[in-house]
Amino acid sequence: MKDRIIPYGILVDMPEGFKKIRKKLLRSVRSKLEGVNIKRVNEFSRSIALLPGVVRVFEDADLPKIRSILDPMNLLRGAFSQSENGMYIPEIDVSLVRRNSEMEETNGPFSTECVMIHERVHNSSACPYYTVLNNALPYEMYRSRSGLCLPQNEAVSSLGPWGYFFEEGTAELCASLYRKTYREETQRKKILRELQRPEEWTEESLIQFGEQDKSRYFLPVKYLLSGPDGPVVSVSSFAGFGLELLCIKDPSLWEALILGRRKLSSLRKIPKIVNGISPGLYGQLARYGYTDDEFIDGLRRIIVTVFGGKIAVNSSCEILF
Ligand SMILES: [Zn+2]
Repeated sequence: MKDRIIPYGILVDMPEGFKKIRKKLLRSVRSKLEGVNIKRVNEFSRSIALLPGVVRVFEDADLPKIRSILDPMNLLRGAFSQSENGMYIPEIDVSLVRRNSEMEETNGPFSTECVMIHERVHNSSACPYYTVLNNALPYEMYRSRSGLCLPQNEAVSSLGPWGYFFEEGTAELCASLYRKTYREETQRKKILRELQRPEEWTEESLIQFGEQDKSRYFLPVKYLLSGPDGPVVSVSSFAGFGLELLCIKDPSLWEALILGRRKLSSLRKIPKIVNGISPGLYGQLARYGYTDDEFIDGLRRIIVTVFGGKIAVNSSCEILF
């Protein structure tokens, strides 16, 4: 079948070249789900109204095969060479999740399930458009929008990153809700023990990190996972908690974040809601790049501008609404 191109070089369907790569990947790599509670993952995804997407869960032994299929078009962008556990590939609309044996040693397959939820959020986006620069080998085309961010939009990238705080934040906020719902008590207590906090504290208890004003930030326990050398958080956790705080201020934001992935009318509500909480805040947050420092700065900006720099907590360090 020939690619259908509409004016301005926009494709409405996945380009044939990407379809072939997708098919080859899905045929060659079967998900490795031993011990993973896939029923629970599916139920949770449905409960937060995520559109179903394709997630392949692989083991490190599968990496050479995956690389041989995706590297010719640079679709992996160097991922999985370090500590990455998951990735969404917008061009072929597939998420990859790596079974990290170190993390599973301390958490069991639960840690993989949390990454699956995060990556499922990324591929629950229903914006199928591809912008075409060159529709012949080697292809030059990209997904203009991926969920709530514009990862490869040339027009906007000249202005810097756009929307990562919202896209990554939504994905990790959902993963945190999964941890809160399904994590075993023994695991939560282990994390609190390692952080020298009372074991009775809950998944909602805020943990303070950093010493000075500039490096200080807070995260609820539900954003943490046990790691081989103590509790760990992902970069996206800071954006996740930032969005959670905004949802506390205006609960209509949650629905807009989820439905905005597939409905233009909901997508358009997000800037209105966020700017309604604090004028100009949407644009400030949307410009943050996908790094620890920038996401922490975004979280701090929300705490300062929306909450006056202070969040009231009870004796278990849970936020008082
Ligand atoms: Zn992500």
